[in-house]
Amino acid sequence: MKYSISAFFYFTRLTNLESIKSELEQKAKELNIKGLMILGAEGINSTSSSSSKENLETFKSWIRERFQCPDIMFKDSYSDHPPFRRYKVKIRDEIVTTGIPEMMPPRGKNYHLSPDEWSRVMKEDPDAVVIDTRNWYEYQIGTFKGALNPNIEKFTEFPEYIEKQGITKEKKMLIFCTGGIRCEKGILELQNRGYNNVYQLEGGILNYLEQKPNDQFEGECFVFDHRVAVDQNLQPSKRYNLCPHCGQPGDIPVTCGRCDFNEKICTDCSKAEFKKETCSKNCAHQWQLNPGRKGNRQLLPFELENMGAELGAESPVKEIRVTKKKVVRLNEKGEAETLTVK
Ligand SMILES: [Zn+2]
Ligand SMILES: [Zn+2]
Repeated sequence: MKYSISAFFYFTRLTNLESIKSELEQKAKELNIKGLMILGAEGINSTSSSSSKENLETFKSWIRERFQCPDIMFKDSYSDHPPFRRYKVKIRDEIVTTGIPEMMPPRGKNYHLSPDEWSRVMKEDPDAVVIDTRNWYEYQIGTFKGALNPNIEKFTEFPEYIEKQGITKEKKMLIFCTGGIRCEKGILELQNRGYNNVYQLEGGILNYLEQKPNDQFEGECFVFDHRVAVDQNLQPSKRYNLCPHCGQPGDIPVTCGRCDFNEKICTDCSKAEFKKETCSKNCAHQWQLNPGRKGNRQLLPFELENMGAELGAESPVKEIRVTKKKVVRLNEKGEAETLTVK
């Protein structure tokens, strides 16, 4: 089955977040939309998906109308596997975590470059500094040619990085992120500090790849759902999965010493004792306690969940004991839940 996916964000003043949340959940249920939406007083930020392209289009039209944002930019892509298992709305202070919630991007353009303009500036202006505003592990699997890697864990470290680099206030800077939302705030912070020649990539890497695959961007782009990353044609990554030990993108194959399961782990964990030869946190833990002893692989909660879906609603409840006192079991809805038992 093919799943349509659409990412979008919109800065707008919102009140009554709880009631907007139930409206969204209602609509998503009606149209069978899955995904994650971050809702805040400053707007919405979301990735939604559906096995029906038509339903997703209806949902997008509804969003445009409901939030009065006819000019909202949707970044569409596809996947053969469901990128989300359910629909979740989370209410947060910020719809993108920057640590600076009081900043509201203005309506309309603020030094935005279209993918075409961005590509041209990169080719014609070698003095322009290209800066990746994402996290270090996102940079590692793909970025723009010659882009600087601030090596940050949190966005709040970004302005400090720029200052430490000694980049002059007049220098032309090109900043980018995954879908454009971080830069909407990042550029304000830089402008406040007196940098007045900063440009941002409209719609981020996802919009860029849609219009200019195999141009100035190299590698793959990390995304925040089960696809892990998308390639130059916005297809789900065949190369990476999420490292079972730490959650970073991983592409180093390992056959688990304990349970013989094949898995891919990240570069860092491939150098770490016990993790480098196991398939999961559980196996790493057991391997450390009893090196060399074989054992069964522990099912992950989502595997249990999938098992429930395959077996159908009338199947008996399946459960596994995770620790002495904890059990993961499938409830009537077919979802995995962790319970503490005596
Ligand atoms: Zn790892
Ligand atoms: Zn294992």
